[in-house]
Amino acid sequence: MKRRIDTYLQKLIGEERFDFYSHVRDFSDHEIAPHILSWERAHQLVPDDAIAKMAEMGLFGLPIPDEFGGQDGDHLDLVLMGMALGYHSQSVAITPGAAISLGAKPILLFGTDEMKKAHLPELAAGKRMVVFGLSEPGRGSDAGNPEVVAVKQGDQWVIRGEKCWSTNAAWASHVVVHALTDPDGKPGKNTTCFLVPMNDPGVHYQEMAGKRVWEQSSTGSIVFDNVAVGEDSVVGEIGGGFKVMLTTLNGGRLFIGGLAMGSLAFALDKCSQYAQERVQFNDQAIGRFQRVQDVILDMDIALEQGVTWLIHCCNLYLEDRLDREQAAKVKIECSRRASDLVVQAMEICGGVACLDEFGLIRHHNDLFVTRVGEGSNFALKSQATRPLLPEIARILQ
Ligand SMILES: Cc1cc2nc3c(=O)[nH]c(=O)nc-3n(C[C@H](O)[C@H](O)[C@H](O)COP(=O)(O)OP(=O)(O)OC[C@H]3O[C@@H](n4cnc5c(N)ncnc54)[C@H](O)[C@@H]3O)c2cc1C
Repeated sequence: MKRRIDTYLQKLIGEERFDFYSHVRDFSDHEIAPHILSWERAHQLVPDDAIAKMAEMGLFGLPIPDEFGGQDGDHLDLVLMGMALGYHSQSVAITPGAAISLGAKPILLFGTDEMKKAHLPELAAGKRMVVFGLSEPGRGSDAGNPEVVAVKQGDQWVIRGEKCWSTNAAWASHVVVHALTDPDGKPGKNTTCFLVPMNDPGVHYQEMAGKRVWEQSSTGSIVFDNVAVGEDSVVGEIGGGFKVMLTTLNGGRLFIGGLAMGSLAFALDKCSQYAQERVQFNDQAIGRFQRVQDVILDMDIALEQGVTWLIHCCNLYLEDRLDREQAAKVKIECSRRASDLVVQAMEICGGVACLDEFGLIRHHNDLFVTRVGEGSNFALKSQATRPLLPEIARILQ
């Protein structure tokens, strides 16, 4: 059966990009879909051989320039990969997705030439990953005001504190740590990012237990116990840490929107098929009921709108014209529409939707992450409202 999302993508992206998307989609159908249930039931992270296959396909290097061993693609390729892999599993999709959009991106956008040469080739090859250390146990939405500190001692910076929710921590060689470096400085200009090796004796990583979303994705807590790093570990400028993190997140939010569309695309295809096969009352398909049709049509409308808007935002991002509010709005809308509709999709399928093998419950759970990850939707709404209420925004500043 042709996927509904393919109908839209075919019209919206050129042939070359569609071929790339189809290649990843086919990989996902043949190499991920048959295994995802057993990985899920075993509460297993994405296996190494699946990571190696994605690395072989170049998925970890999509937007990285070829001079650093990447595919020389762009952010739209990354978002298309998110839709193609996310159709079966957001957990699998976020692994190369976060490795690039949160791990490699700060180095690509703000790293020194030495940093790029030292790290990007192996990151592009998927041989190792870098994680994005912004969130902390006490600082989630208020991440601009970190409790993790870096104190200058001689020619070194000594880092203390804890980061959490760090995606891909199990596979990481380094973490980009956002730390307070000037406690008396102006908010937004008093933090700095450092690239810290995970094998430093003062770095302690633990996988976060009990997570029932993105089950195959590694999520770590990382403690920094007086970790000393040199000036050459600074990513961007001293005092420019929040800018590094926010710029990185703009692109990351488009990827999260792509994951939400991957899940919605799966739910739409699954429900359309089920509504035509499942019979109730006089041996007729449930798809004849108007309310069932309504949900299916709403999913289709949301999918076409979301995919179109995301591609538009990716194009703005490529031209360096995507502002923070737009990135926030598209992430809010794709994630809330998809997660609200997946609940209705489950309802029109009935009891069978409760079974893991039916697939919808996985997307239901994973879509929750798209609502809170990379900035909770509620917090992002405050940001997205600023241009609409400039006088209020000025008072709040
Ligand atoms: C699976 C997963 C993976 C993640 N990966 C990473 C990662 O790789 N790196 C990383 O740094 N972080 C990561 N995160 C963290 C994620 O970015 C945070 O969860 C998110 O920023 C929200 O922070 P919080 O959970 O501490 O919620 P809190 O900040 O405690 O907020 C709780 C709720 O309060 C409300 N709220 C808070 N602030 C506002 C506001 N200003 N306006 C209106 N309402 C508000 C919202 O409803 C919000 O959901 C990940 C999270 C998850 C769940």
